[in-house]
Amino acid sequence: MEMWLKEVQIDGAAMTYKVNKTIVTKKTRYQDLAIVDTDIFGKMLVLDGIVQLTERDEFVYHEMIAHIPLFTHPNPRKVLVVGGGDGGTVREVLKHPSVENVVLCEIDGDVIDECKKYLPQVSCGLNDKRCTIIVGDGISYVKEHKNEYDVVIVDSTDPFSIAEGLFKGNFYRDIYESLTDDGMLVAQTESPFYLPDTVRKVFNDVKSIFPITKLFMAAIPTYPGGYWSFTIGSKKYDPSNVDIDSIPEIGTKYYTRELHKACFVLPKFIRDIIGEQ
Ligand code: SAM
Repeated sequence: MEMWLKEVQIDGAAMTYKVNKTIVTKKTRYQDLAIVDTDIFGKMLVLDGIVQLTERDEFVYHEMIAHIPLFTHPNPRKVLVVGGGDGGTVREVLKHPSVENVVLCEIDGDVIDECKKYLPQVSCGLNDKRCTIIVGDGISYVKEHKNEYDVVIVDSTDPFSIAEGLFKGNFYRDIYESLTDDGMLVAQTESPFYLPDTVRKVFNDVKSIFPITKLFMAAIPTYPGGYWSFTIGSKKYDPSNVDIDSIPEIGTKYYTRELHKACFVLPKFIRDIIGEQ
């Protein structure tokens, strides 16, 4: 019998994937967790029915959320990842030799455990001695840490339930305080096709706090709309104006020097959403 996973991406639109095998399903303290093996995208992590990553296209998201800020900051030593329990972002952060410590603050310990078990090529960085894992709420963690991080990466689920507070102005204000004087924040900020109001609100919230605010895009086939936004708030360095010739090769499949510049070139409808000319 054929089995298909249907992800309702927004009221009125859904994606379906042929499932070869269900590897694990679990009700955690916070959400419904599943890891399934699919025909086209390989293993897939699904939380509350929403695809978080697939083996086939995870590199796009993880490379872009990590390398854009880490190749903008001239000497990132301490990095915080909020969410990101699958470990893909940590894996990319650790490709930067300047990084001495990356703290992962993930609310759901089951996400970490199951990804370590079934998605080792994604979660491998979580076993690195430079990685510290905190199982807890990123909102509280950030409030308790001041002037500490060079880069904070918000690698969260969608803006509902446990992740709702990760899309609020107060949270970005607390991140600003947790950053060093030349630190920067990057957050995944959803689909401009499906959630334009979220994209606009986060951009404006970040802009009201940080002197430099930029939006960049990446093509991710299994995320709703396929074209995904990330927002950067920076105290000092402009991520869209880096000396790309000085960027070394670190073994990526999506990120390139040229793309570091190009990803900030936005289509007109996205410039309109965020109110930039
Ligand atoms: N790349 C993914 C995406 O955009 O679909 C995000 C993947 S990662 C699995 C998201 C993680 O954020 C989840 O494991 C979830 O448990 C975690 N999370 C949600 N709310 C959180 C919070 N308040 N504090 C820390 N982690 C949180």
